[in-house]
Amino acid sequence: MTGEKLEKRLFGTNGVRGVVGKDMHPDLALRIGMALGTIRTGRIGVGRDSRTSGPALQSAVEAGLLSTGCDVVDCGVLPTPALQYLVREHFDGGAMITASHNPPEYNGVKIIEPDGTEMGDEETIRLEGILFSEQFAVAGWAEAGVPDAAPSLGREYIDAVTGTFPPGAGKGLVVAVDPGCGAAAHSTAAILTALGCTVHTINATFDGTFPGRLPEPSPEGLEPLATLVRSTRAAFGVAHDGDADRAVFVDDQGRFLEENREFALIADRVCQGKEGWVVTPVSTSKLVEEIASRHGCKVHYTPVGSIYVARTMRRLIDAGEPVAFGGEGNGGLIYPDHQFCRDGGMTAAMMVSLVAGAKKPLSALADALPASHMIKDKVRVSDPHALVRAIADKYASESTDMTDGVRINRGRTWALVRPSGTEPLIRVMVESDDQAAATAFHEEIMGLVVRFAKG
Ligand code: MG
Repeated sequence: MTGEKLEKRLFGTNGVRGVVGKDMHPDLALRIGMALGTIRTGRIGVGRDSRTSGPALQSAVEAGLLSTGCDVVDCGVLPTPALQYLVREHFDGGAMITASHNPPEYNGVKIIEPDGTEMGDEETIRLEGILFSEQFAVAGWAEAGVPDAAPSLGREYIDAVTGTFPPGAGKGLVVAVDPGCGAAAHSTAAILTALGCTVHTINATFDGTFPGRLPEPSPEGLEPLATLVRSTRAAFGVAHDGDADRAVFVDDQGRFLEENREFALIADRVCQGKEGWVVTPVSTSKLVEEIASRHGCKVHYTPVGSIYVARTMRRLIDAGEPVAFGGEGNGGLIYPDHQFCRDGGMTAAMMVSLVAGAKKPLSALADALPASHMIKDKVRVSDPHALVRAIADKYASESTDMTDGVRINRGRTWALVRPSGTEPLIRVMVESDDQAAATAFHEEIMGLVVRFAKG
């Protein structure tokens, strides 16, 4: 599967992103809209997260789409997975104005395909080609697109998530929600309330200055949520990144639940009574493999990036293979019965279902998971791809996986050496159920990386 990642010039793993006024401005957004309108026809749903630069960039994308003959429906401020759901239900494509977890000064555009998935590499490269060559198919006066607005359509997403669970699935459960003033400022509380939970919130207004915490839901930023969980005796606290395709948790004791452990716990719930694949990047903890195997599910590894996970899930299903679950070890989880994208609101609801059905509190469930020790590192190198090849040669006699960089599997210990998608960097990850084994393998790999990097 090496080489599945095609080189893109403008778009990264999850759309175009940059600092507003520097790398990202309405002129670029206009041209993205015109390029998208050149390769797509029909009605395009457009939405945004809560960033201050959102209205200007959204207007520019819409202008580009209208000028190339697409009709545009403004869906307002809503989570990325909500727009993805609405596109699949109602539109011929979508554009989401968001910089996800990046700081407030960033913004960007994610393109959504008619089936609700993010645009894949091949189509993105085609779109970039039109953008850079400026070969826009501008419509004449009689074919210009028509604008419309549907600010209440996001309710359908809330109902779809809620409708996945039995009525009252969260009855009696107290939960705390920290949407971080981002795109899910209203929706996640609405979902959990509809499930019957008693919901306490902080940072639950749309505010592009992000006064409560940064859009990245880091353990440090979630201290106020942890305090809220303890003071309200909540079963857990949930927080999102800026566009709410990811969800992370603090347990009933206010402790941050590391995202790979979150993935493993939710896999334990989702895989119940199911069979088939759990799809995830090669950077995900072996814990997920271990939990999936308890249910007879096996892990299918992909390159790093949610789009590769979502598209692999689709491809397996199209080939007649059963797929139970998918996601990344960063709180971005994909429920194939619901939709093929990461969904933070759905993950919050699934945690309600998990905790409501468990006989133990979340802290006890997390503590009962097998041990896992992960070490992450990065090294600046001039030719990351050559370094990966050298490491792969070195470990040729061992079990290796070349899905993205090289992953060396050594029993219950593994290491991943992978080029960064955006910088001249090598990323190194080592994991083991044994702390000493992780440390030893990390030292071994880093010794080689540093030696090869020096040439
Ligand atoms: Mg995101």
